[in-house]
Amino acid sequence: MAYSLKTRKYLLVLLIIGWGAIFIYQVFGQLKLTRHLYHDNRLLMGTFWEVTSTDRKAGAIVFSEAGRIEGLLSKYIESSEISRLNRAGKLKVSPDTFYIIKKSKEFWQLSDGAFDITVEPIVALWGFSNREYMVPADKEIKSVLKLIGSDKIILHEKNYVVEFKLPGMKIDLGGIAKGFALDCAVKKLKSNNINNCLINAGGQVYALGEKFGAPWKIAIKNPREPEISGTLELKNKCASTSGDYEQFFLKAGRRYCHIINPKTGYPADSRLTSVTVITDEGLSADALSTAIFILGKKKGEKLLEKFPGSAARIF
Ligand code: ADP
Ligand code: MG
Repeated sequence: MAYSLKTRKYLLVLLIIGWGAIFIYQVFGQLKLTRHLYHDNRLLMGTFWEVTSTDRKAGAIVFSEAGRIEGLLSKYIESSEISRLNRAGKLKVSPDTFYIIKKSKEFWQLSDGAFDITVEPIVALWGFSNREYMVPADKEIKSVLKLIGSDKIILHEKNYVVEFKLPGMKIDLGGIAKGFALDCAVKKLKSNNINNCLINAGGQVYALGEKFGAPWKIAIKNPREPEISGTLELKNKCASTSGDYEQFFLKAGRRYCHIINPKTGYPADSRLTSVTVITDEGLSADALSTAIFILGKKKGEKLLEKFPGSAARIF
């Protein structure tokens, strides 16, 4: 059967429209599929972790890595390297543990001693390690202060041995471990070809890549005010918050928070409520937010200048 030229042209146009429709349907269908976000959550490192990603595997990868870091660094796990080091005063540790202790010492130096992982004996004295809070006597604080100072941690680079100069010294990585765990998790995600993911580790957030082509948006608030005070748009950045509103106790009308000023042995009294630091990686955001909370606004902003590309919201 022969068609006229006009009919053939007409059929060809119909065919093209048909193909076009199928093509558009498939593209939109796929878009719809990739626009789905998976949400996973887990209790880890003493806090609530939430993972949001277009990739279903992201949550499991993040939780496994955070669990591994918790197993190495938690002072609440008896078999962790930190617990063993705290009991023995000298220990050969894994490269990860050695690295975070070394970085902690660097932040001690940079923050003029405000960030100091050797605060554990003071943290314990105030009851923050077992939640049996109390205000210690001045005399007790003074005697324990002798054990404080990250210069008293000796690092043997050759064989990954960490050694304390004084008996009774103990370290607490609570101000930096979560940030490090986030960095490790992000590394693992990337090596699994997952490049878009939002991880919220109890308020410390790492935004890897984007959410459907736009930066991830997170809300921040001044903890003393009911409303959200703003949003942050993050892409490949970490935002860490330290404050006096999560772990604290009240005694005789005074608020005592879990962040200790290593110079005085008393909870930080910089008059700040909360500090959010944004940097390219979790470890530095975590350590800096803790340090700035102790140092206060002026000295804190000076410290931040040493980290190009970083920013802070200080309340
Ligand atoms: P959070 O753990 O609530 O996110 P931070 O990151 O600010 O808050 O860490 C607070 C924890 O850091 C404390 O619970 C304690 O374990 C530890 N810490 C307290 N004081 C100091 C300090 N001066 N330097 C380093 N770590 C500290
Ligand atoms: Mg911190």
